[in-house]
Amino acid sequence: MTDKKSLRPATQLVHGGTTRSQFSETSEAIFLTQGFVYPSAEAAEARFNGDDPGYVYSRYANPTVAMFEERMALLEGAEAAKATASGMAAVTAALLADIEAGDHVVASRALFGSCLYIVSQLLPRFGVTSTLVDGSNLDEWRAAVTPKTKTLFLESPANPTMELVDIAAVAEIGRSVGARLVVDNVFATPVFQKPLELGAHTVVYSATKHIDGQGRCLGGVVLSNAEWVEEKLLPFVKHTGPALSPFNAWVLLKSLETLELRVRRQAETAAKLAEIIGAHAAVARVLYPGHPDHPQAELARRQMSGGGTMIAIDMKGGKDAAFRLANALQIVSLSNNLGDAKSLITHPATTTHQNVAEDVRRELGITEGMLRFSVGLEDPEDLAEDVAQALDAAL
Ligand SMILES: *Cc1c(COP(=O)(O)O)cnc(C)c1O
Repeated sequence: MTDKKSLRPATQLVHGGTTRSQFSETSEAIFLTQGFVYPSAEAAEARFNGDDPGYVYSRYANPTVAMFEERMALLEGAEAAKATASGMAAVTAALLADIEAGDHVVASRALFGSCLYIVSQLLPRFGVTSTLVDGSNLDEWRAAVTPKTKTLFLESPANPTMELVDIAAVAEIGRSVGARLVVDNVFATPVFQKPLELGAHTVVYSATKHIDGQGRCLGGVVLSNAEWVEEKLLPFVKHTGPALSPFNAWVLLKSLETLELRVRRQAETAAKLAEIIGAHAAVARVLYPGHPDHPQAELARRQMSGGGTMIAIDMKGGKDAAFRLANALQIVSLSNNLGDAKSLITHPATTTHQNVAEDVRRELGITEGMLRFSVGLEDPEDLAEDVAQALDAAL
């Protein structure tokens, strides 16, 4: 019998974590149940004291959710995973499960807006101080860590600038003071970047994005070593209750079967579109990790096995040109979501990052002319034609 853990990712995405009921169904079942019944009072006692590892209550664990968690762990190469109701629930659990008053957190400034809220506003209310650094500048990470630093947190590539952080180097800086590194790996996807192999302690995903990939449900997942998940994460999640619905877990589980196919195809199309966009007279800069013009192209090659599905476009004509481009697109829809089968574009300065102060936006490199483009599964030629005509209209 093959060791299941040694199977390659494409196989794990189809078979990993599957458990079958007494009916031996081919497709994974949805266990849409809150509770579980016990054959005897003695069995219930054993379930509660841990002598019998079976299910107790779906806020703690559920068979469909467990299949999704196991499949994610096999894909990521993690010892353990815990699913949550949204990406933000995953980030919150990953950070709060292992922190206490007096601790210090260092995070890259270029974070998803809600992640920034947790680090810079929520944690300080509970006595956890935080320092924000320019993630791409390793000297700033080195200068920020202290013996009180418990957690480092980053996103790479970052939203929406596609700026990268050297994950291996930051993990090493963390280890020098005994701090653990948490990586939000949404933009890279589990297909193109393996933060745990690069030295991160914990990886978090908004499964809402590429893992669902078809714009249907929210979800999240935290992945790490078995001991930390068991001792720190599980008690936090069990008692605070950000449980993923079994129905949504089933949607996400079935989505994983096609994750690699979808994301590779989207990334191939993104690479082609980045070429077209970068060469157009209306564009000041295209930022795509797989593009040779990306300021950190060498780092992208070192820590990512593909450029991903997201492109940032900086228009020469500022906000007006960005709006003209967005409004001229016929196939690409205007939406602040990402990682969908449908191509989506958004103007961060007036949508996702509208509440970020102008000087902070400037510091982050989010210009008035910047658009964030999530490349979908449409025919690459149709997308290329649509983007080209809209760029012409934006001139
Ligand atoms: C969307 C997103 C989140 C939050 O995920 P939700 O599922 O919307 O809660 C966190 N980080 C990144 C990078 C994201 O893109």
